[in-house]
Parts: sequence; C-alpha cells; structure tokens
Amino acid sequence: MNFSDLGLSPKVLEAVTAAGYTTPTAIQAEAIPHALQRKDVLGLAQTGSGKTAAFVLPMLSMLEKGRARARMPRTLILEPTRELAAQVQESFESLGKNHKLTVALLIGGVSFEPQAAKIDRGADVVIATPGRLLDHFERGRLMMNSIEMLVIDEADRMLDMGFMPDIEKICKLLPFTRQTLFFSATMPPEIQRVTSQFLHNPIRVETTARGSTVDTITQMLVKAPHEAAAKRDALRNLLRTQDNVKNAIIFSNRKTTVALLEKSLRKHGFNAGALHGDMDQSARLKMLTAFRANEVTFLIASDVAARGLDIPEVSHVFNFDVPIHAEDYVHRIGRTGRAGREGAAFTMVTKEEGKYLKAIENLINKELPYFDNGAVEETEDSVKPARREARGRGRTKTEPKVVAIAKVEEVAKSVVVETAEKPAREPRVHTPRPPRHTHFENDAPNDNGFHDGNMPSFLIKR
Ligand code: AMP
Repeated sequence: MNFSDLGLSPKVLEAVTAAGYTTPTAIQAEAIPHALQRKDVLGLAQTGSGKTAAFVLPMLSMLEKGRARARMPRTLILEPTRELAAQVQESFESLGKNHKLTVALLIGGVSFEPQAAKIDRGADVVIATPGRLLDHFERGRLMMNSIEMLVIDEADRMLDMGFMPDIEKICKLLPFTRQTLFFSATMPPEIQRVTSQFLHNPIRVETTARGSTVDTITQMLVKAPHEAAAKRDALRNLLRTQDNVKNAIIFSNRKTTVALLEKSLRKHGFNAGALHGDMDQSARLKMLTAFRANEVTFLIASDVAARGLDIPEVSHVFNFDVPIHAEDYVHRIGRTGRAGREGAAFTMVTKEEGKYLKAIENLINKELPYFDNGAVEETEDSVKPARREARGRGRTKTEPKVVAIAKVEEVAKSVVVETAEKPAREPRVHTPRPPRHTHFENDAPNDNGFHDGNMPSFLIKR
C-alpha cells in the first residue's frame, strides 16, 4: 500500500514525501480513505502508531476547498493536554506547509488575546484543549457552527482527566452534519456511550490491541542503593557505562527528585534538563524544543510532564525510580523504541521497590533480567557525600553496591497499555475521577510504538 493509493490530493502527497514518509502506517492506510469519503471514523490507536497524520492528511485535503471566515473556524482538533495540542500543531504546520492555512492553537497557560486575535482573522483549523476552547466560546470570541470536521484525539485520556462533560458540551455546539474522527487507545463503556451519541455510522479501524508488544525495546534492571545520594551516584555510573546514548529520558516519581537530579547531573558535567509539572508552559515547551534539537541530551522528567510527548529517536529511557503504578512503566519505556526503532530501557531498583517491580512483571507477563557482570563500582566522588548524608540521618548501614550492566542479545518484549494524563490546568469539570494518589506525579499511562503485525515493514530495522 502506498500513500498514492489512499486518495489524497497531489499537494498532500507532496507534503508526505517531503516529510520522508514512504509507506502509510496501518492506521493511516485504514482510516484515510474513509476520512476522505467524509465518513465518521472511530480509530483505536495509540500514540506512536502514526495516528496524527491519519487525521491531519485528510483534513489538509478537505481544507483545500473553501476558505476561513472570521471567528468561524472550519475544523477543530481537540487534545487533552497543551503539550499534545502543541505537538499536533507542529505536525499540522509541517505537513501543511504548502497549504498556507491558518492554524489557531487554543491552550491554557498562555495569554488569551493573541489566540482570540488569530481566530478573529479567520482560522482554518483550531487545535485546542477543551477548557480553553469553551472559554473562547463563552466569551463570544468563537463560533462553532461552521466546523465541518471534528477530531477528538486521545479520548480515553480526556475521560481520565474529567474532560468528558466538556467534550459532550462541545459536540452539542457543533453542526449535526459535521464529520467526526475519534481516536482512543481503549474503549471503556463511557467512551462507547459518547461515540454512539456523537458519531454517525462510524467506520471502526483498529490497529493495536491492548497488551500487544513492542519488541524493539531492550529492558534491563539495575540494582540500586536506597539512599538518595548513592542512588544518584549509581545513576551517573550507569549513564557512563552506556556509550551509545544518543539522548535519553530519565524518569522519576517525584517532581522534587526531578529538580534535584537535574542539578546534580549538571554539576557532574552531564548535559541535562528538567521537565516537571511545576514548570510553566513556556518553560516546558522551551525545554522540549531544546531536547528535540539535541541541545539537551538527558531529559529528566516526571510522568505527567512527559506523557504523550512524541520525541522521535530517544535511544534510552532510564527509570531512576520504579514507577508506583505498573502501567506507568509501560508508558515510560514506550518513549524509546518508537516507530519501529530500537531502544533500551534501564530501571534502577532498590530493595524497597521490589513490590512495585513485581506488579510490573505481572502486568507485562515477563520477568525482567538483572545484569550483574562487569560491575559498575561506586565512585569516590559520590560515595563520600552519600555516606555523609547517611551519617547525617543517623544511619550506619553500608550502601549496597551498584550492579553492572551488560549488553544483551535478547530483545525483551513489553506490553503496551493505556495512559491518561493529569490536566495541564484543572478540568472545568464537575465529576472528575478521584486522583489515584496525591503524592506522586504519575497517572495512568499508555502509549507505545507499533505492534506485532502492525508495524510497516519499511520501519523494521534489518
Ligand atoms: P504519532 O502516532 O502520530 O504520534 O506518530 C508517531 C511518529 O511516527 C511520528 O514521529 C511521526 O512523524 C512518525 N510517522 C507517522 N507516519 C509515518 C509514516 N507513514 N512513515 C514514517 N513515520 C511516520
């Protein structure tokens, strides 16, 4: 199957070639022809499957006819988070660079007026988070009765974040005759209810199954000491043993640890940056841009801050802590090995974290290997502070030794499950699910690359 078989316009095909896409992914091959026939599409697909282009490309084709009018956008893409919305904007602008279309990004955390001014001038597409879109509507700055195509992306995350009442409200404000493309990684009953209410005879396309595997990620465990400074030392040693790290995300459970790790790694000469929920929107985007541009090699992140981000070609993921919720593990390691590329995921495990590891292994139905040859020794520079810190707290116990990493032949498999993300701003709503925890920055995860049987052959490394 080629892109030219899908019915896309010549201008869109040119953009696809310019983007370097040669073969459509499964979701693209399945969804695009139906979307071009103006049918509603219900897509079961996850981040990493190529679903953004699956809705952007037919939208571009559709937008070639007609033009935008003031305050009356023609198409609308709803995203659960600001980061995802900004990412989709980037894809839209890159794939649509020959189309000269106006894109308005309506997200919270940034000023309202420039967004309103853009809609005033006429936007072909609005990419929005639900809360900010309704703010614009309620202030009379936006009309929704000219929307011809609606995309609801990451619907199950929207649900988890308590956005469903907003989504329902928005759907009721749109013309009945609009086309709807609806994407979700899972289909819980609440989502099914919404789809049966707001989609008309949708074509269902499904490219991934919950629990399917990404087999390009090598997963390894590393024994680590419990004490904080010694654990940071262990991380540094681990990073030093890896000579093929192109760029990496280092995950931690707590925002405070993220900030501390960044400081510590920088102090030790690592090119590190942080991404956590306490940073404002512009700082987060700036950091992400720097990471994408390879100006920052190690991105230290909390789960919420990193969720759903499409950062291509991350060679390594390091879990500084074992995630408390097993699904977060799957989400974290899904940052690497995307789109059929190979990746490595290391998880540092203390004795205390054994129970969380067990839950992960149960979830992925696989025992993860430890590596204990070619030991990575504690280094002088940090053993001392580590011991000092331990003494300061009146502890005397000897820190466990950091254990080594070795290259593995076997490519481990991992299960892919769904994620949800905490809202960038509190949902406007009403009946949010109770938070699963307050202490840690993680929520339910989800996301992955391609899956067995779905990965286009052109993406497979031979
Ligand atoms: P998404 O699932 O939309 O987040 O896309 C995941 C990644 O796959 C992005 O980096 C896209 O640029 C890339 N991608 C999407 N479609 C294709 C394709 N047909 N060929 C190669 N890469 C693609």
